[in-house]
Amino acid sequence: MRYFPIFVDTQDQDCLVVGAGEVAARKIELLLKTEARIHVIAPDACNTVLQYAQQGRIQFEQRRFQDKDVSTQTLIFVATDNNHLNAHIHQIARDKGIMVNVVDNTPLCRFITPAIVDRSPIVVALSSGGSAPVLLRYIRQKLETVLPHSISKLGTLFQRFRDRVKAAFSDVDARRAFWEEVMEGDVAEHIYNNQETKAETALIQRLTQVESQTAEEGAKKGAVYLIGAGPGDPELLTFKALRLMQKADVVVYDRLVSKDILEMVRRDAEKVYVGKAKSNHTLPQGEINQLLVERALAGQRVVRLKGGDPFIFGRGGEEIETLFQYNIDFQVVPGITAATGAASYSGIPLTHRDHAQSVVFATGHLKEDTIDLDWPALVQKGQTLVFYMGLTGLPIICKQLVQHGMPKDMPIALVQSATCEQQRVVTGTLTDIVAKAEQEALKPPTLIIVGSVVSLHDKLKWF
Ligand code: SAH
Repeated sequence: MRYFPIFVDTQDQDCLVVGAGEVAARKIELLLKTEARIHVIAPDACNTVLQYAQQGRIQFEQRRFQDKDVSTQTLIFVATDNNHLNAHIHQIARDKGIMVNVVDNTPLCRFITPAIVDRSPIVVALSSGGSAPVLLRYIRQKLETVLPHSISKLGTLFQRFRDRVKAAFSDVDARRAFWEEVMEGDVAEHIYNNQETKAETALIQRLTQVESQTAEEGAKKGAVYLIGAGPGDPELLTFKALRLMQKADVVVYDRLVSKDILEMVRRDAEKVYVGKAKSNHTLPQGEINQLLVERALAGQRVVRLKGGDPFIFGRGGEEIETLFQYNIDFQVVPGITAATGAASYSGIPLTHRDHAQSVVFATGHLKEDTIDLDWPALVQKGQTLVFYMGLTGLPIICKQLVQHGMPKDMPIALVQSATCEQQRVVTGTLTDIVAKAEQEALKPPTLIIVGSVVSLHDKLKWF
C-alpha cells in the first residue's frame, strides 16, 4: 500500500489553494465540506471561486503567488496552468514538510484525495492510488446506493449518546452488543424513516432499561414491514424494500411474489406462504392479520411481502388496521403496481397528450357473475382504464363498456406476467379480445388495459 489512508483534522487549520480556475474550484468545493480556513491565491479566478469569495466562504487574494505564501498551512493544493510554477511550489512545500497536492500530477503529490461517500459523520474514503479511476467510480456508485442517506443521522445520534452508553456498560462486549442491537432494531429503523424524535425516545428507553438493569435478556420489539414487491422483475424493488427484506425474521408472502424476489429475503428468515389464488384462498384475510400480530408480538421482524403495491388492491389497509389495534410498529413500503409495470414493459403509456388525460385503476373481480362498477363514469373520452383481476370477467367488462357507449373497436390489451421474462401481450378490440384471450390461453396474473393508448403498443414495444 503506497498511499496510507488518514483523515486530517481541519478544525482551525489553514489550507492554501494556488490557482482559481475550474480545477482549483473542484478542490475548493471539497475543502468547503470541512472546517478548514481556505486561502486562495491567483491572478485570475473563475466565477465559481469569485462567488465563494463574495459569500465569504474563502479568503481570495487576486495576485501572483510568492514563495513566502507557503508558511505553516496544513494542506496545500496547487492548480495553476503553469507546470514550472506548480513544480516550484511543490518543492517549497516539501522542503517545509507541508503536505502538498499538485492537482492531476501524481508524482508531485505528497497526498492524494480519495473518492468519498459523504454521510458525515460517517465518511467512506476510496482510492485506487490513481490506477483505476473508472473502477473506483463504479464502487463508489455501489456504495452510494447501499448506504442510506440517513446513515448520517444515525451517526450523529451515536455520537451524541456515545458517552452515556460508555458509562452504562463497563464491559466492552456488552457495549458492542448494545450498539449492534440499536443498529439492527427499531432505533435505526425510525431514523431511516425520518422519525428522529421517535428514534431518540426508543434509544433513551432502551438505555434507561439497561441503566436500571431491568432489561430482559435479549428483549426485542417486533415490527411488521408491509412491502410492495412490484410486479415481478426483482430489479423493480425499491432500496427500502430490499433493506427491510434483509432484516426479516419471518416473511409472509402471497402468490404474486416471484421466486427471484423471495430469494432476496434474508437467507435465514422463515418463509410463510399465505398465497391467494382466485377462489382458492389459502389463508383467509383475518387469519393473515392475526398471524402478523402474533409474530410481531413475539418480537419477530415480520416482512409482509405483497405483489405490486400494498395499497392498490392489496388489502394492505386492512392489515395495518389490525396492527394499529395492537399498537405494533409497522412501515408501509410502496411498490410498483401492476398497472405501471405492465404499461412500461408493454410500451403502452397510460396517459398521452394525444390519447388520454386520465387513467382509472379498477377491479374486474367477479362477484356472483357481475362486476360492481360505475360503468358510465368509466366510459369517458380520453380516459385509460386498467382492470386488475379481470381475466375471468373479461367478457362482462367488454360487454358493459360497449353497452355504456364505448366504441366497439376500442383497442384493448391483455398483459400477462408483466415485467417478467415470460411476459405476454395480446391486443385486440372490445369485440374480438375475448376470442383472442381464449385462443392464446392467457392465465393469471393478467392485467387489462383499455383505451386508445393501446394503439401505441406496436410502435413503442421494446421488451
Ligand atoms: N397489489 C397488486 C395487485 C393485486 S390484485 C399491485 O399493485 O399490482 C392482483 C391482480 O393484479 C392480478 O389479478 C392482475 O390483474 C394484476 N397483476 C399483478 N401482478 C401482475 C403482473 N405481473 N402482470 C399482470 N398483472 C398483474
